[in-house]
Amino acid sequence: MYNITLIPGDGIGPEVISSAKKIIEATGLKVNWDIVNAGINVYKKKGVLIPNKVFESIEKNKIALKGPITTPIGSGFRSINVMLRKKYDLFSNVRIVKTIPGVNSPFKNVNLIIFRENTEGLYSGIEKKISDNSAEAIKIITKNASLKIAKTAFNYAKKNNKNKITVVHKANIMKLTDGLFLDCVRKISKEYPDIKLQEIIVDNMCMQLVMNPSQFEIIVTTNLYGDILSDLCAGLVGGLGLVPGANIGNNMAIFEAVHGSAPDIAGKNIANPTAIILSGAMMLNYIGETKKSNLILDGVSKTISEGKYITRDLGGSSSTTEMTEAIIENMLTIK
Ligand code: NAD
Repeated sequence: MYNITLIPGDGIGPEVISSAKKIIEATGLKVNWDIVNAGINVYKKKGVLIPNKVFESIEKNKIALKGPITTPIGSGFRSINVMLRKKYDLFSNVRIVKTIPGVNSPFKNVNLIIFRENTEGLYSGIEKKISDNSAEAIKIITKNASLKIAKTAFNYAKKNNKNKITVVHKANIMKLTDGLFLDCVRKISKEYPDIKLQEIIVDNMCMQLVMNPSQFEIIVTTNLYGDILSDLCAGLVGGLGLVPGANIGNNMAIFEAVHGSAPDIAGKNIANPTAIILSGAMMLNYIGETKKSNLILDGVSKTISEGKYITRDLGGSSSTTEMTEAIIENMLTIK
């Protein structure tokens, strides 16, 4: 029996989290879900964005599946997501971007994984208003965090027999901050002589990705570039509804989709549940339940390639619930 924290979140969060929960249960995994919530809805009811029991649950279980949380733009509270990643030193943000056959996209062979530094960079939240006409943000890059994300990416490459890693930076302009990040990645790369390190400046990387994404397999980068590049990459494989992610530290992990709370489609039962379902599959892999994780991947692939029960972002007309049920049906036949 696994104890897992489940955070529904805001917007489409509760709808897609409910799908992921059903799918994980359909694998036969025995889970004691500790359902706690955070975000704007909680704030409206209780006057607090993250109740203490959310922290307590994550600290006790060390593993969570989380829906997206709305963050106000321009003013208001700071991102809860950024806060959780920092508080628990979940230093690697891992996002898997893979073509799923049947999805209408100009690219057919995308298979890449992004390792984004998750605790610092321009997301450190240190901003200051200088005057009515100017403001500044401080970008923090440390050797410690840069070495850790580099090591994670290289370890992954070695374990999975990959022979190339691409580091994305802007060290030509940000010589001290991105320069330090790049130096750290170069330093770690020396410990892995069989893995080639390719260095690309972030603007060129955007162009390369939309011209020929299959040339890349593993990307390691800083916080902001990683955030932007992963949405870009989601677009290459059919959209945000398909890309899963994980925030991983030394002994704790929070799994969540790359997408946000999608207020434009919330409450309509039309969100694509795939991204959070695949985040659940990543979570099962993380706890060593590889077979059950693969069962989810197969169920999702089969459902999407059949194209009968898919949500409208994929060109179908099924609801979130119908797509979820179809995935479960397919999992049961594969099983
Ligand atoms: P978003 O990812 O919520 O939505 C962008 C577009 O993609 C929208 O058109 C939306 O309808 C579509 N989309 C997203 N997920 C989808 C899905 N599963 N199925 C179908 N379509 C989907 O990004 P946004 O609109 O920039 O952000 C909305 C809110 O979410 C903001 O408050 C933002 O701060 C927050 N956010 C949270 C997280 C997180 O909790 N990890 C991540 C990103 C954004």
